[in-house]
Amino acid sequence: MTDLVADTPLSIPDELASNSRQRDDTALIVHPQRLAVLFAPFTAVASWLIPGEAPINPGDYALRTRRVLKSTPLIDGHNDLPWLLRIELQNRIYDGRFDPTQRLLGHTDINRMKQGLMGGQFWSVHVHCDKAQKHFDDPSWLVRDTLEQIDVAKRFIAEYPDVFTYCTTPSCVRTAFKSGKISSMLGIEGGHQLGGSIASIRQAYDLGVRYITTTHNCDNAWATSASTVAAGGEDEGLTVFGAAYVREMNRLGMMLDLSHVSHQTMRDVLSITQAPIIFSHSGAFAVTPHLRNVPDDVLRSVRRNGGIVMAVFVNRFLNMKEPSAVTIHDVVDHIWHLADVAGWEHVGLGSDFSGTPHTPAGLEDVSKFPDLIELLMARGATDDQIRLLVGDNLLRVWADIQRRGEEIQAEGSRPVEDEWEGRKWHTHYRSSPYMYRSTRERAIREGWGEPNQFNVGKTGKHEQKIVKTDEDI
Ligand SMILES: [Zn+2]
Repeated sequence: MTDLVADTPLSIPDELASNSRQRDDTALIVHPQRLAVLFAPFTAVASWLIPGEAPINPGDYALRTRRVLKSTPLIDGHNDLPWLLRIELQNRIYDGRFDPTQRLLGHTDINRMKQGLMGGQFWSVHVHCDKAQKHFDDPSWLVRDTLEQIDVAKRFIAEYPDVFTYCTTPSCVRTAFKSGKISSMLGIEGGHQLGGSIASIRQAYDLGVRYITTTHNCDNAWATSASTVAAGGEDEGLTVFGAAYVREMNRLGMMLDLSHVSHQTMRDVLSITQAPIIFSHSGAFAVTPHLRNVPDDVLRSVRRNGGIVMAVFVNRFLNMKEPSAVTIHDVVDHIWHLADVAGWEHVGLGSDFSGTPHTPAGLEDVSKFPDLIELLMARGATDDQIRLLVGDNLLRVWADIQRRGEEIQAEGSRPVEDEWEGRKWHTHYRSSPYMYRSTRERAIREGWGEPNQFNVGKTGKHEQKIVKTDEDI
């Protein structure tokens, strides 16, 4: 058999339907198998002409998988290893404390990433929601801890330059892949980790973070999380301030992640975003009605939006009723549904390895990605569809988001300065040399500034007399 057979859609997704109709007009693709027989001699000759491309049996899923993953980087959208560096090692990774070249417990180490033929990894820099916070605006150590997560993830990546390449652009991922490296990118898992602050988003971007999960398992200044709704709370969707968050993410060209948010938040964001969105680790709600999963109407919106849903491997999202019975086949079912409804151009892989204790039978760790690809092929996925799924979609979506940000900035759009309406500001600085008369007046009026600090008057000269009244200022 030939390359052509392997690449011929067995079931043509809607996304490709217009192309296939055009091809139907020329009666070229109606019966793929027959076509393969007719053209076999030519395609076989053609394949000999392409260096390194020999004809292969389309039923040889292992060989097809290896060939696809040799030419297209498999990029996983979500792995929580940096979180383990924090909770197990308190971020101390040197002097033999952490050695991912050895076989580790859990789901992730370098040898198994290589066995899994991985080409790229988004490392999640994650800190749990702070249960001690009664309100999301209460002081916490979340932003500090997030900075430390970014730091330790970067140090871990830098420690293995023969294996990993730190990347902040899609083109870097392609280049790293060509040189045999696993590109390594960063994503922050929740607005709580940035204190709900838009200025903090910009700084995270400058530090190299390329996606932000809008919420984790707690609401924040921007949006309602799926967990709130699962616990019986109202689904209030995106907040007014959340719209400003979307605006700044679009302007920065940063990937806005809708995994973990409530269904209304998904719909609200999709109705206003000016750029494609991502789901870094979510399943299909129609297959398993867990609120962490994506309902069909949202999948159709993602298709229109040009975004991507990266399929999660967490048991309880894959089968709520019997999480312990989940296998790799459940993941195939979820991916198939995501692709059916959103189109193969809008699916990806977002394992959540190292972030969950439970993984499906047959998909225990990062070494098992090829097994998943083989099963998808056995179900009828073409090589082209697999290329989209494993990495091409994510790189396209990322590049589109980046380009949209450049366009918005080229239009003269400035950094968003909005703050959450309930934000408290520290005003009690008794010795500030205020710039504005109105501040001095207010400091005196409200008693949070000492009047006698203002010993420089409006003439710019020192004045003996302590100023107390408006006229004196
Ligand atoms: Zn998560």
